[in-house]
Amino acid sequence: METRTKHTYHTSIYQFVRDIWVVCPNCSEQAFVRTGNFEQLKYDIEGVRVVCPQCGYNKNLPKVSRRNPHLTFGAPIDPFFKLPVWLQIACCDNLLWAYNPEHLEFLRQHVEAKLRERNVPEYQGRSIGARLPRWMTSAKNREEVLKCVEKLKG
Ligand SMILES: [Zn+2]
Repeated sequence: METRTKHTYHTSIYQFVRDIWVVCPNCSEQAFVRTGNFEQLKYDIEGVRVVCPQCGYNKNLPKVSRRNPHLTFGAPIDPFFKLPVWLQIACCDNLLWAYNPEHLEFLRQHVEAKLRERNVPEYQGRSIGARLPRWMTSAKNREEVLKCVEKLKG
């Protein structure tokens, strides 16, 4: 169990951007940004598209150069088209959001782990654990955050 918890601290946010649930720009229903083999900005980014199963809207992203990617991470929008993420909810005077259910489940596990462990080491870099907003992991908010996660999961 401890191994698993430690592992999650090193999880890169990029692993959650393969399929992103977004609000369709055409019909405001749930759409998906599919990123295919997107991996850590190692290569120029191609083949990213947004598709909406409800209205059929779909659009390809023009090729993105890794040198000048103009991608936005860490905001409640998909990094490519900047569409609002589908999974978002007001929580503790903030916004709780996730790219997809896997990301949401990761957040839940992380906050739960914080509830159990008092001395969680801080890690540097792009570890998603280190990048969780402080309000989400602060002791007074954790219970409420978990409730919000459950609401989002529906
Ligand atoms: Zn649509």
